[in-house]
Amino acid sequence: MKTISEGRKMWASVMVIFIVYAAIFILFEDYDRKYFHPLDEENELRLLAFTVLVLIGLGWILYRFAHRMDQRITREQQEQQEQMRRELTQNISHELKTPVASILGYTETILNTPSIDAATTRQFVERTHSQAERLTALLQDISILNRMDYAPDVLTKERVDVSRLFAEIVEETAHALQNHQMKLSNCLPQGIIIHGNFSLLYSIFRNLTDNAINYAGAGTTIEVSASEDPGAWHFSFSDNGIGIPPQHLERIFERFYRIDKGRSRSLGGTGLGLAIVKNAVQLHGGTIAVHNNEGGGLTFSFTLRK
Ligand code: ATP
Ligand code: MG
Repeated sequence: MKTISEGRKMWASVMVIFIVYAAIFILFEDYDRKYFHPLDEENELRLLAFTVLVLIGLGWILYRFAHRMDQRITREQQEQQEQMRRELTQNISHELKTPVASILGYTETILNTPSIDAATTRQFVERTHSQAERLTALLQDISILNRMDYAPDVLTKERVDVSRLFAEIVEETAHALQNHQMKLSNCLPQGIIIHGNFSLLYSIFRNLTDNAINYAGAGTTIEVSASEDPGAWHFSFSDNGIGIPPQHLERIFERFYRIDKGRSRSLGGTGLGLAIVKNAVQLHGGTIAVHNNEGGGLTFSFTLRK
């Protein structure tokens, strides 16, 4: 459906004000006559014609102004979108460059060094493999975001048991949690049912868990809980780790935004995880917010419509 543009809305409201003003003017005409010398009929008609002409003129000027304003708003929006697209393409090509360069470097070394020993070859092949895995993860993330941006209708929705889904994630990440001497306290009640897209719901909880494991710090604890109201589930996902410097908090849901690029990249991160989380939450009719806890660490609070 075509929505009314800002400029036209402004034009319409000014016209409504004019009409109301004219109505009041006519209604109080008798009152005016008590205080002002009444005009004869001919002059009154001239005055009326003059007023109508002025009103039409003003209306036309305002309409032109509103039209110009619309054009400017559209142009600004287009420029903004263009800028975002440019930045996105730059970011994507920048992120692709590093793994592709490493893959080329390792494979060229193997191919151009006939005397290379088996152990070094294996080491290089392993590194090539992990860079290829990184590329795959990046392309997967980009494809998820693209689907959410341009084809959200094709994302099938089904009845998803989020309590079970998260219990599976806890199992899958048990080893990583142990390596970081971390604990996970799963306080989700049984039977959280959401009508949603399974893989997006999985992405939400998996990204938040992976982030806490990667960034909160050794020896910390993750706590996940939920409460319900008639239409939605409210989740709280927190850790008691290092948290995020306040000046970065507002931007961490932006695509490719990372606080410590070097550290994040060395952990295989591309800064798309939280952008996916936010989009996925919104696609499930929810909102997400983040804050630093008083005692340290981060809490993500988000809702998902049932
Ligand atoms: P990706 O998830 O795409 O592999 P990433 O983890 O770097 O890469 P995001 O998940 O979007 O990207 O996170 C953005 C940044 O927010 C991270 O680089 C990290 O610095 C910070 N961050 C996220 N979660 C936490 C957390 N629980 N504690 C501290 N910092 C965090
Ligand atoms: Mg992440």
